Amino acid sequence: MRKNDMVTVMIEDMGSNGEGIGKIDGYALFIKDAVIGDVVEAKIMKAKKNYAYAKLVKIVTPSAYRVDKPACPMARSCGGCQIQEMEYGRQLKFKEDKVRENLIRIGGMPKETVSEIMEPIVGMEEPFAYRNKAQFPIGTDKDGKIVAGFYAGRTHSIIPNTRCVLGVDVNERILRCVIDFMEEYGISAYCEEEHCGLVRHVLIRYGFRTKEIMVCLVINGAEISHGDVLAKRLAGIEGMTSVTLSVNRERTNVIMGKEISLLWGQTYITDWIGDVKYQISPLSFFQVNPVQTEKLYGLALEYAQLTGEETVWDLYCGIGTISLFLARRAKQVYGVEIVPEAVVDARVNAKVNGIGNVEFFEGKAEEVLPEFGRRFEEEHGGRKCHADVVVVDPPRKGCDEGLLRTIVEMGAKRVVYVSCDPATLARDLKVLRGEGYEVERVRAVDQFPHTVHVETIVLIQKKNS
Ligand code: SAH
Repeated sequence: MRKNDMVTVMIEDMGSNGEGIGKIDGYALFIKDAVIGDVVEAKIMKAKKNYAYAKLVKIVTPSAYRVDKPACPMARSCGGCQIQEMEYGRQLKFKEDKVRENLIRIGGMPKETVSEIMEPIVGMEEPFAYRNKAQFPIGTDKDGKIVAGFYAGRTHSIIPNTRCVLGVDVNERILRCVIDFMEEYGISAYCEEEHCGLVRHVLIRYGFRTKEIMVCLVINGAEISHGDVLAKRLAGIEGMTSVTLSVNRERTNVIMGKEISLLWGQTYITDWIGDVKYQISPLSFFQVNPVQTEKLYGLALEYAQLTGEETVWDLYCGIGTISLFLARRAKQVYGVEIVPEAVVDARVNAKVNGIGNVEFFEGKAEEVLPEFGRRFEEEHGGRKCHADVVVVDPPRKGCDEGLLRTIVEMGAKRVVYVSCDPATLARDLKVLRGEGYEVERVRAVDQFPHTVHVETIVLIQKKNS
């Protein structure tokens, strides 16, 4: 097979990035936007010894799993969604399979065991308009008009689109308001190549329960002229609670600047997950799909099996979301988080909810936990520090292996593992299984419909406890 060759192939499988996989005499073709079950015509773009990347040219016979028309006309070009053209039920199966295969292949778990303990994936009833946060890059089109939209997959060219189907309706109105204001007052959009121009991004956050709205303009400058006019216009939108600026003058892919200044209203919005309320500022991390997050944390609570007597550690706790969710059913909760600002948010959130039995530590979980254990032993005449339940919710790279050993040493009865990457999850489970722990329950939760991402929650129990 060579570059520019045309092939017709049946799509039999899907890769972890959602691409369709077809085979010709054992030679694998990876084809973006091809759906499992399609027969497609594709052009070879990059050929290697055993596989090639090909470009979808024509769908010869559409798969039964292909939707008639994707909800978003930009579904293919935009980098946000990867599998929107595949019907939602099949997306869920894809994610479940991904978790199952990782547990078997990387985790070394027997196939039968995995089938036995895996519970059905938790999908969404309405898998659109689920995101409570959107960050739109602002740019200028070839006619000099201000545009807002999305980056095309893997690039930084902006595809104008203010109507993302994953986001809330009000996004469009807010962007229109900002764009009109910029056009009217001659305020420039940022240009990445030249590192000039003012407005880089518009961050919008929406409280699903409270209906409060936050808008934060990220600017390449100290201030925005006529900012009071913009603020007044935005304030006219029902629910507007916070209008802020974030200064980011760096030549960087990082969206937000480090500081926030207030233009109108207050610097944060409030929202609820279950019966816990959270103050969310422009820089805080907050789960983007509140409907599914509530289900996920509900499962975390169920898996933790708290009676009110337990000491619980919530490692990688962010702004303390899970910690606070569990605190009312536990004796004491300790949260550990590496980002100082998140720890500040976590403490504020504990206070706002009147929750007194939580304590947050700033630092690396793999350092804070053993250090706490050492100090405890010193203070308690050599008695070992014991944890009943440990919750971990690490970033994609998973847990530090030393941390897993510390958890084992602390004699945790149960570990509840919340994971955003099934491969590192499977790797870490293998470590715990080698240390006398058993994987009892596994459930995938679809936090990000139409993307290839999948969240998984796992209950790991100490044998004979
Ligand atoms: N449990 C939270 C946040 C999960 S995201 C929630 O559900 O909202 C993972 C978090 O781990 C991030 O907040 C990140 O800053 C933090 N983190 C990354 N590496 C860490 C480490 N080594 N020790 C502690 N926290 C870490």
